[in-house]
Amino acid sequence: MSEYDVDLFVIGGGSGGVRAARIAAQHGARVMLAEEYRLGGTCVSRGCVPKTLLVYASRFRAEFDDAAGYGWTLGHATFDWPTLIANKDREIARLEAAYHATLEKAGVTIVKSRATLADAHCVQLANGDRLRAAYVLICTGGTPSYGDQIPGLEHAISSNEAFQLPELPRRVVIQGGGYIAVEFAGIFAGLGSQVTLVYRGENILRGFDDEVRQHLRADMEKHGIRVITGCKVAAIEPAGGHFSVRFSSGNHVTADRVMFATGRAPNVTAMGLKEAGVEIAKNGGIAVDEYSRTSVENIYAVGDVTNRVNLTPVAIREGHAFADTVFGGKPTAVDHANVPTAVFSDPEVGTVGLTETQARAQLAQTDIYKAMFKPLKATLSGRDTTVLIKLVVDGLSDQVVGCHVVGEGAAEIAQVAAIAVKMGASKADFDATMALHPTTAEELVTMRQKSASYARAAAE
Ligand SMILES: Cc1cc2nc3c(=O)[nH]c(=O)nc-3n(C[C@H](O)[C@H](O)[C@H](O)COP(=O)(O)OP(=O)(O)OC[C@H]3O[C@@H](n4cnc5c(N)ncnc54)[C@H](O)[C@@H]3O)c2cc1C
Repeated sequence: MSEYDVDLFVIGGGSGGVRAARIAAQHGARVMLAEEYRLGGTCVSRGCVPKTLLVYASRFRAEFDDAAGYGWTLGHATFDWPTLIANKDREIARLEAAYHATLEKAGVTIVKSRATLADAHCVQLANGDRLRAAYVLICTGGTPSYGDQIPGLEHAISSNEAFQLPELPRRVVIQGGGYIAVEFAGIFAGLGSQVTLVYRGENILRGFDDEVRQHLRADMEKHGIRVITGCKVAAIEPAGGHFSVRFSSGNHVTADRVMFATGRAPNVTAMGLKEAGVEIAKNGGIAVDEYSRTSVENIYAVGDVTNRVNLTPVAIREGHAFADTVFGGKPTAVDHANVPTAVFSDPEVGTVGLTETQARAQLAQTDIYKAMFKPLKATLSGRDTTVLIKLVVDGLSDQVVGCHVVGEGAAEIAQVAAIAVKMGASKADFDATMALHPTTAEELVTMRQKSASYARAAAE
């Protein structure tokens, strides 16, 4: 008989954990998975899925407005937040049940409990039960972090609570400049809230292409979102059913809700990691090698808890690769280069590969191809919006090393462009591809003129 109760104990039933557990079980391992909240994790309960449903809801307003130019006369549209939240919750419950069924079918034993490490081979459940495992996989994800302690911070909500608000706030202040802050700004604004986005840096979406950041900010402002940069929330004071929000600039605004989207921290505390010998990396995540193995031989970690590329498909891929490596006899490292990503803002951003700034820092010669135009749909609707499409090309090899899109459908475009970028397609390959007309994406294959550097153009 084995000295272990299970071959694999998975701590955390989110994107990474569910995939790893299922694949390991399919490889023949005896797997147990502990989840303390809801199966499916952040993505399903309070991340990608509910967020995107809210984004869809928020976009109807623009569609209703745009319809007039196309001859439609609509009645007065009203929106009911509780209906949206109830319908969203129903879909999440359905997904959670589906995850449950899939895992059970694969033979995984699911425990609804918090789990921590007692030592490298021993996992302790909340009720004190202990299980011995040959391997442990930690995939506990991350949690919203609020940054500096300020007066009244306890009144701020994170994205977790934003999904469960009892009513749509009339006025919202959102602190943060990352994709979650920007997306919620679009959601609330689209649903009818007055939104102020405040960010301490010089512009939103740090790490994205500078021109994309500038372009998106301008469009968000055109659509009524107030964006204040170089500034922070300094204090939140309750004031008769709402809040008086003081900024570091000294200005005040009144808000019904204050949301902080100021980053996420890996869930590594009180997990028994140190005692088991699991090292933490400088970025606060669990340190792992390319096979997601930690500093302890039989303990692995995947997903946001490792703070590598914090996206659902990456966690899934890492979880799958772990299972193949340890239980499938097929050592698999995950390639984190050229991961496409999107911001479901208004307008949307889709991107893959190097930004112009990164390319200029890494390559001997960088060429930029760029198109900015009013989308066809906006001609009759009169919507004040502009699409940006930008290709970053290695000037010596002609390889397309980055693709950035701002506009309707940008996420879908970036997913497909990512195949070409990942394959190492050249600008000549893009040019040889026939355009599909009339689309936004056709500009990807019709741009012939090199464009001036954005950094240079901005400085001039
Ligand atoms: C608002 C928001 C929007 C997002 N939008 C997108 C998007 O559009 N696209 C995208 O790709 N990614 C998006 N993400 C990121 C994505 O959700 C994460 O990258 C992904 O969920 C990471 O998966 P994971 O398995 O590492 O962790 P998680 O999905 O967070 O799962 C970790 C699980 O572990 C459980 N857990 C934690 N500690 C313990 C413990 N000690 N014992 C038992 N269980 C424990 C948690 O309850 C949780 O269910 C978004 C995230 C947020 C917050």
